[in-house]
Amino acid sequence: MEHIVKKTIDALKNNGINGYFVDSTKQLLEIVTSILKAGDTVSCGGSLTLHETGILKLLSNGQYNYLDRFKKGITPQELKQIFRDSFSSDVYLTGTNAITMDGELYNVDGLGNRVACMIYGPDKVIVVCSTNKIVRNLEAAIDRNRTIAAPLNATKLAKKTPCVVLGYCSDCSSPDRICCKYTLIRKERTPDRMHVILIDEAFGL
Ligand code: SF4
Repeated sequence: MEHIVKKTIDALKNNGINGYFVDSTKQLLEIVTSILKAGDTVSCGGSLTLHETGILKLLSNGQYNYLDRFKKGITPQELKQIFRDSFSSDVYLTGTNAITMDGELYNVDGLGNRVACMIYGPDKVIVVCSTNKIVRNLEAAIDRNRTIAAPLNATKLAKKTPCVVLGYCSDCSSPDRICCKYTLIRKERTPDRMHVILIDEAFGL
């Protein structure tokens, strides 16, 4: 794993993305805090990893202008506004569906607000990723999504899709389909915009 992580971080660097490796949530939160500045407008994608690692709690600590998409009682209109305002946030935080050893980020979204912010808009993007989401190449990333991440996510969201029953993707035509926008980030041209923190614990899907 040490070799795989090093190779991935080297590849990320080669792609203009800062890579970090941590072995605890304490270290993870220290790095995130060092990238954020007090008063920053911060927003995030819908990520179980951010919740499980305590990052959402950090964003809510009052030091930041947190655009809270998980606010209790939020209306559809407020959520839509947060998604739009996220494009001009200082920092956007998210997980990723998979990361390749070539330093690429593969993601599949339903609506597309998350992948859109990863690609363009926020001044900085922080991606938190368990080392178990590192895969050899794009083909493996696609396979991981079809056989693990998307079916689990559809189950978690209580979607009425075939993968919830089958446990794998059948490229459905369901109105509940969660896989609509497919993206691969291969390079980041703006220096110090994108940060990927790999954590040596299993979080997310
Ligand atoms: S395309 Fe449909 S069946 Fe395939 S993973 Fe996505 S929601 Fe499930």
